[in-house]
Amino acid sequence: MVKMYYNQDINEAILKDKKIAVIGYGSQGHAHALNLKESGFDVRVGIRPGGSAERAKNDGLVVKTVAEAAKEADVIMILLPDERQKEVYEAEIKDGLEAGNALVFAHGFNVHYQQIVPPADVDVFLIAPKGPGHLVRRTYQNGAGVPALIGIYQDATGTAKDLALAWAKGIGSARAGVLETTFKEETETDLFGEQAVLCGGAVELVKAGFETLVEAGYQPEIAYFECFHELKLIVDLMYEGGIDNMNYSISDTAEWGEYVSGPRVVTAASKAAMKDVLTDIQTGKFAKEWIAENENDRPQYSVKKQAVRDHQIEEVGAKLREMMPFVGQKANKEVVTK
Ligand code: NDP
Ligand code: MG
Ligand code: MG
Repeated sequence: MVKMYYNQDINEAILKDKKIAVIGYGSQGHAHALNLKESGFDVRVGIRPGGSAERAKNDGLVVKTVAEAAKEADVIMILLPDERQKEVYEAEIKDGLEAGNALVFAHGFNVHYQQIVPPADVDVFLIAPKGPGHLVRRTYQNGAGVPALIGIYQDATGTAKDLALAWAKGIGSARAGVLETTFKEETETDLFGEQAVLCGGAVELVKAGFETLVEAGYQPEIAYFECFHELKLIVDLMYEGGIDNMNYSISDTAEWGEYVSGPRVVTAASKAAMKDVLTDIQTGKFAKEWIAENENDRPQYSVKKQAVRDHQIEEVGAKLREMMPFVGQKANKEVVTK
């Protein structure tokens, strides 16, 4: 059983003495920097000039260049996009690290796949909130928090775990619960979850259902409601009380259909494909291909992105959401910043 830590288990004093640098001020960066500052920690933001830097200044934070912030801080958290971390680390962070410093991440990708190889005399750990940065910020302001994972990759000082827990407490995550993992487990399960289920799996399932109805002659708007719009309502029920709670709310007919038809759609072959996806993550094949895609300026990424934008479900969905002011970006502005 995984070990959980809460506020009362954690003494944050160890991090109170340290100078903290948050590198990047995007989704996670703004949440970590502001929450830590309001929790009484000594925070500076390291960021290039531009939109993020202006936002950080307007939010009342101390803003420096990446190199300055990394040099003067004891604990440096890299909250840049994963694909940019290696180049910024090499150019602006590496030389500022001193023995006994801590290098911190919110996702293990670059360390686990050895894109960033930190020196042996620094602590390396991760604090990965299990939610987008805007939720990390909003829940903190409401006196709550988003649960987080911590993982220790390298414990040069003997206090890496205490620092990680203190950070998790500072951003509010220990109000909700902190779970311990490793860089390997966090990286591989995060990639698998988003590829097989959350993003890759869910998008393909929705598109295939929509296409099946439309190709059979049903109206696209009706197909959108049945295969896309209602998914959120179903997932909310599962999230709140498990599958049985969802089954309690739907009709018995829907529940029976779930039992007999679900396994016809997601089959043993689908599970075998999931296993292949996991193997590519574990062997580093996925990471290698994604790194190469970035090095070549993302030729396939751009094509695939455009194909999704051009799909009929997006066109129909955009029109229908216009007619439903209670859904979509207007109702949910703070989530849409990236
Ligand atoms: P974002 O894309 O939201 O943030 C990007 C930030 O990095 C911006 O402030 C941007 O500044 C800055 N930046 C980009 N390129 C450079 C550069 N070359 N030099 C200096 N600054 C740069 O990132 P996220 O918050 O999504 O991700 C950060 C980390 O958190 C990642 O490791 C991710 O895996 C992890 N994570 C993210 C979660 C999420 O929900 N988003 C959840 C859990 C973990 P500018 O405005 O100037 O471009
Ligand atoms: Mg991820
Ligand atoms: Mg229905």
